[in-house]
Amino acid sequence: MRMPEGIEVVERRVGRAVGQWILEVRCECGRRWFELEAVDTGKCPRCGALVLIRIEVAAPPTVTPLDSVTDQAWPLLLQTRASVARRP
Ligand SMILES: [Zn+2]
Repeated sequence: MRMPEGIEVVERRVGRAVGQWILEVRCECGRRWFELEAVDTGKCPRCGALVLIRIEVAAPPTVTPLDSVTDQAWPLLLQTRASVARRP
């Protein structure tokens, strides 16, 4: 297929991956850790306190269905997800 001038086509292998929501918990002492389930209590590994966890976001952010993502939106989407996943 002939592409217009200035457009470079790069072929990439397509794979599958598994996603999982994790809950970031931050104790008042400042220690952060992660839970794989929506728990409402926990024990801080640093100060040892039994903490009551108030979850500030009611539901995970909406995921954009992959088939509605245009090629132009991919870099932005990947960047957004990377910043969400990055530890503070
Ligand atoms: Zn703590």
